[in-house]
Amino acid sequence: MTHVFYRQLTRDYPSAVLGRGITIRDATGKEYIDASGGAAVSCLGHSNPDVLAALHAQIDKLDYAHTGFFTTPAAEELADEMIRHAPAGIGHVYFTSGGSEAVEAALKLARQYFVERGELQRQHFIGRLQGYHGNTLGALSVGGNLWRRKPFAPILLENVHHVSPCYEYRGRRIDETPQRYGERLAQELSNKIDELGGGNVIAFIAETMVGATLGAVPAVPGYFKRVREICDRHGILLILDEVMCGMGRTGTLHACEQEGVTPDLLVVAKGLGGGYAPIGALMVQEKIVKTLTEGSGFFQHGHTYMGHPLACAAALAVQRVIQRDNLLTNVKAQGDHLLRRLGERFGNHPFVGDVRGRGLFQAIELVADRGTKEPFDPARKLNVRIKQEAMDRGLMVYPMGGTVDGVRGDHVLLAPPFIVDAATIDTVVERLGEAVDAAIAATG
Ligand code: PLP
Repeated sequence: MTHVFYRQLTRDYPSAVLGRGITIRDATGKEYIDASGGAAVSCLGHSNPDVLAALHAQIDKLDYAHTGFFTTPAAEELADEMIRHAPAGIGHVYFTSGGSEAVEAALKLARQYFVERGELQRQHFIGRLQGYHGNTLGALSVGGNLWRRKPFAPILLENVHHVSPCYEYRGRRIDETPQRYGERLAQELSNKIDELGGGNVIAFIAETMVGATLGAVPAVPGYFKRVREICDRHGILLILDEVMCGMGRTGTLHACEQEGVTPDLLVVAKGLGGGYAPIGALMVQEKIVKTLTEGSGFFQHGHTYMGHPLACAAALAVQRVIQRDNLLTNVKAQGDHLLRRLGERFGNHPFVGDVRGRGLFQAIELVADRGTKEPFDPARKLNVRIKQEAMDRGLMVYPMGGTVDGVRGDHVLLAPPFIVDAATIDTVVERLGEAVDAAIAATG
């Protein structure tokens, strides 16, 4: 009888006891290739000696100091390191314990920025359908996955509105170029802003690449540039959520670099600490912090564990290893290899409609019919079965449901650590192919 519970209350979880490189071993001795980095977290793999040394050194010196009293060298150095590589104008970092907390901080900082400017009428947020920004109530409110929101709908934030995601596979019409599709979506955002009144909107929030809900979906070229222009026109802040797709996962440190766009608030988490400690961060444009500094001098927000020295020391070591070992080059090279291999294995697969992604952030989308893009019946629980079949074959991938409307539609996300090599990728794709075929056969 177990006393701990996780999301699934009716199944037994294997117990993970050892992590080494790209593998995790369970208590029975079975090994799993971690081809999803957990949930796109473990960017350096497990047990990296430099990170472990940094953690030991930190705990020998200082375990914890509350940020109501102190800053720490670990937090300061990590912020310096992040700002050194940050998009233009981003000059400050606010640390949290994870992604949802960082999103909450972004929403509150955005609102307080306008309060300090006397723009009290700005009270609305716009997010995107199918977006995921975390499970706390504020983050869930701006997220647009209907299934995740449903039980909590009556208690979510009221002033939140949603527009369509940029999801080319399902959203672009046959007679539309990608560019035209992007323009249409930007126009939808513009219309929503007009409806609310441009001066009443606080911020637009989007994942630069949609992760958990749709599976590694990049925007079409030019989409984010238009979004940026629209936000600027109305003085609306742009919040980009790169909790999953950021910190190198797509081949550049920040995914927004590939869009040629700088947000006002950039949210990062998973790959920041690579799983060695719970940490997230909100990266903020100079003008926002300046407004608060010259105004109340106080951000009305905070958490007990923010800027935890151990988490900051771990994240600093992770980020230094990524830079020192030039790992983003490997992300690009192995990402290309992964996309090629997925294309070879699934490109003509009768039940795979799309293979997509950037860097080491890739996905396949499963369909019952390639022509109509009809999803599988959700009662089959195909994504759940794929995960199990993969685990049986010693492989961790991240399958999810709900690509179509939050309920129907299955995809499998792959996000291996940045240290992955070509031979491991070949094994991953081979095992994934077997798992997908077995799951379709078993649930059919
Ligand atoms: N934002 C995005 C884009 C995410 O993918 C996630 C988690 O998957 C979150 C926010 C929430 O982060 P956390 O689970 O660390 O609270």
